[in-house]
Amino acid sequence: MTDETVLVGGFAHETNTFAPTPTGRKQFQQRLERFGEAVPAELRGTNTGIGGVIDVADDAGVDLIHTVAASATPGGHVTEAAYEFYTGEILEGARTHREEIDGVILPLHGAMVPEGMDDGEGPLLADLREVVGPEVPIVVTLDLHGNVTDEMVAAADALVAYETYPHTDMGDTGATGMEILLETIRGSLTPTMAVERPPVLAFTPTQNTREGPMAAIMAEARELEAREGIRKVNVFPGFAAADIPEMGFSIPVVADGDPDAAADAARDLAETVWERHDALVGDYPTPTEGVRRAAALAADNEDDGPVVVADVGDNPGGGGTGDTTPVLRELLEQELTDAGFAIMCDPAAVQRVSTPASASASRSASAARPSAGSATRSRESTAT
Ligand SMILES: [Zn+2]
Repeated sequence: MTDETVLVGGFAHETNTFAPTPTGRKQFQQRLERFGEAVPAELRGTNTGIGGVIDVADDAGVDLIHTVAASATPGGHVTEAAYEFYTGEILEGARTHREEIDGVILPLHGAMVPEGMDDGEGPLLADLREVVGPEVPIVVTLDLHGNVTDEMVAAADALVAYETYPHTDMGDTGATGMEILLETIRGSLTPTMAVERPPVLAFTPTQNTREGPMAAIMAEARELEAREGIRKVNVFPGFAAADIPEMGFSIPVVADGDPDAAADAARDLAETVWERHDALVGDYPTPTEGVRRAAALAADNEDDGPVVVADVGDNPGGGGTGDTTPVLRELLEQELTDAGFAIMCDPAAVQRVSTPASASASRSASAARPSAGSATRSRESTAT
């Protein structure tokens, strides 16, 4: 017999709206799709948002009702069908269990953009609020790459973001979210949020929380949490490859019943962010200049190993397609030798080099080996 019952649902995607290939249910199934009791069977004890939620619930003797856990590799817009399906699982769970649940916790991402919409999380939370009503607390944990919309802030009682990038604290974030939810259910916390959005577009490499401007901003966030009435200071540098109106930096602060304290803390940290905006925006060379600088560095430091050039505009970890060629073109045009290039997504090229006989060889070989020749031709036709 437990005192509290909490509904859990996870549906996470970082949507690169510039990527041409939509993200459908198949893409979620390739990474993570579990329902009901298969969720804790898969995620208990893992460094994930839901793993952290389960840890705290187990310790506190809280009953969890699992709906769905789904996430896909960053990519193009989430299809309408996939969005309706996964949000439907969460909303249906809330409808079914409305009378028995004391709260809801949703580990989401924050940068989901479904087809035909600007924001995936905000409308889900608004719909969920309709279902559970104003009295049932909703806490949402998010990746710090989330683009936090006003609708998300309005519909949730508290948002809780990762504090690290590269991300290492997914489980801790889920645990903190669950602790905040339990404090709210038990009446020791009355969460109220305020959000500031300093007008800064932080480029991915400058979002590193281990050094540079973000390390200092995160340290200040932790200091602000020691202030009277402040429960959680969230820092979202945002996800620039989601081309939506509310894309960018946001600082939603959770205070205990004191909206002014939340607003003051958010404002103070936003000023720090603004003071550091030059470092956050960064200074990045064009492909021409970048390759030129790399060549000069390599020539000056022959014994120091390779110089690595990263095309941060096409990062597959952020939904990039991995098929853009400006850096490769510069390597060729600047006639660099002793240089390598990786990785290029080019199925047609892979087809050509992995086929036993190349196109010209297959034609000359087709008289001697007609079956191999015809097979080569048919594979080539499907690759184009
Ligand atoms: Zn992230």
